[in-house]
Amino acid sequence: MLKIENFTIQEIHDALSNRDFSCTELVNDSLERIEKLDKKIRAFINVTPESALLKAASVDSKISKKIALKPLEGIPYSAKDVFCTKGIVTTAGSRILENFIPPYDATVIRNIDEAGAILIGKTNCDPFGFGSSTENSGFFPTHNPYDIERVPGGSSGGSAAAVASRMGVFSIAEDTGGSIRYPSALCNVSGIKVTYGRVSRHGAIAYGSSLDTVGHMARNVEDVALIMKYTAGHDRYDSTTVDIGVPEYSKEMKHSIQGVQIGLPKEYFQVKGFDLEVKRTVLEAADTFDNLGCHIEEISLPHSEYAIAAYYLSAISEVSANLARYDGIRFGYSKTDAKTLDELYALTRSDGFEDEVKRRIMLGTFALSAGYYDAYYKKAMQMRTLLKGEIDEAFKRVDIILAPVAPKLAFKIGEHENDPLSMWLEDIFTNGLNPTGCPGLAIPAGFSKSKLPIGMQLIGPHFSEHLLFRLGYHFQNSTNFHEIFPDILENMEE
Ligand code: GLN
Repeated sequence: MLKIENFTIQEIHDALSNRDFSCTELVNDSLERIEKLDKKIRAFINVTPESALLKAASVDSKISKKIALKPLEGIPYSAKDVFCTKGIVTTAGSRILENFIPPYDATVIRNIDEAGAILIGKTNCDPFGFGSSTENSGFFPTHNPYDIERVPGGSSGGSAAAVASRMGVFSIAEDTGGSIRYPSALCNVSGIKVTYGRVSRHGAIAYGSSLDTVGHMARNVEDVALIMKYTAGHDRYDSTTVDIGVPEYSKEMKHSIQGVQIGLPKEYFQVKGFDLEVKRTVLEAADTFDNLGCHIEEISLPHSEYAIAAYYLSAISEVSANLARYDGIRFGYSKTDAKTLDELYALTRSDGFEDEVKRRIMLGTFALSAGYYDAYYKKAMQMRTLLKGEIDEAFKRVDIILAPVAPKLAFKIGEHENDPLSMWLEDIFTNGLNPTGCPGLAIPAGFSKSKLPIGMQLIGPHFSEHLLFRLGYHFQNSTNFHEIFPDILENMEE
């Protein structure tokens, strides 16, 4: 095995360029880790060794001809299985798309491929991103590398577990209501939920189109910032992307954080059932920022208790519309022996969708239906406006908000099995952000006594990713939580 656990992308790039190891060795290293670890972790739905090794060979031939490599060239990565990959099965974590092969690449995949990174596989997730633990996947649950009896978080649990166990260097994932930040926190990786409109959603299988964002996970903030250089920006295939300049994140990140004003939302710290160890760890992180020259103050986000309801109502309403396309005719699974068209729709959707998917379609349809629309969907939209107004007010006082990510430590697989609502409540600190469109960066903040990772999130105004990276980068320069690897990696050679 290559000893690259603590290498940044830049360091791997230098090592490739100096021929310390070849790109083929690097890709084989990721594939070997998958071979050894993924029987237990189950982060991948599909691995793509042939195409990965072919690409690695062409990078090696470039190196031998002394052609300079681009910064991401030859770096192995994974992608959550909600991104369309041309010619490669893309399931969205649902049985209804079990055999679906997209005819084109999502823009984010195309951009990353053009930057030279090498796709090694597609990662497991809750179907269409519906969940917080990866247990809702139509295939199998993913396990947390820090304790394989526990969940890695979700819905991008496969991506987080893959990055945490170095099966690939980074992962492309998606956050509609916490799906990047929550698993990042539970698996001790760094993950960015970008400003809505910053990264193209073209080719990302839709969950809630007004909330969906495409982001990245890696072992440290430096890498996340580097990746985003290649994915942020306008895309003519996604009219919600914004045509404003993309900052030099990797340079910006190194600027001083002296005098940055950080707000701690008091309501977050008063939530019932909030684990005391998590709370203490996030407050200790605030002290670290204080020592680094930032100013910490308490702020108020008075409507945050309604965020979870506003989020779920808007998300599932969009689900009921977005998932109408899986009808047994256009994509994926089809119950071909149905006798009538109506039967084809009904049987395809009953067989192909997982319980959580059906639950959301039914609830979303109800929330939008005549007579209930005003009471549910419209109220959720009004709350969304209030939440955005309230966070804008907060950003008049502070530059950044520091908050917990998960209210508890990673829970045991099966713990929420019979109570879907209790699973939805795990999102209390994460999904309120998506209705505001603001970006959030989740980074490791510490560990529990039981050695489980604890994360925190830095939240900023629209298009403030550069500032989030700056704070995250300086925090990681003065702490080493992000470098504490799961024991499973150390025992791999046995
Ligand atoms: N737990 C959230 C949900 O189930 C996560 C959604 C997401 O970000 N994809 O809706």
